[in-house]
Amino acid sequence: MEYRIRAHHGMCFFFFQGKGYSSGFTQNMCEMKKKLEQDPYVVLLCGADDVCTHCPNNQAGVCISDDKAADYDRQVLAACGLRAGTRIRWKAFEALVRERILRAGRRTQICGGCQWNELCF
Ligand code: SF4
Repeated sequence: MEYRIRAHHGMCFFFFQGKGYSSGFTQNMCEMKKKLEQDPYVVLLCGADDVCTHCPNNQAGVCISDDKAADYDRQVLAACGLRAGTRIRWKAFEALVRERILRAGRRTQICGGCQWNELCF
């Protein structure tokens, strides 16, 4: 199985605490988190993914805040030395996010303006 993951969700999964935009959204996040723990291949995107599919902010396949979300995606990909469309094992991507963004203290530069920011420490 392979999943579509927009790049900035590599950070969201680190800090996910069961909170989200709706009950359907959080249920899907919990299920996706379990699936990703099996270390499947993921395709990294700058656009709607298998998380967005269950989000009320997804309007006809596009996030209502896509300017901001896609900017986060581009910054995560650049920090990790990856491109949109890259196919990679989840845990390899997770390790890049951890080392190059979170441990490097760069997260708030990328997504400090997000409404969930205060949960991500
Ligand atoms: S807010 Fe936007 S980017 Fe985030 S999960 Fe919802 S649709 Fe996707």
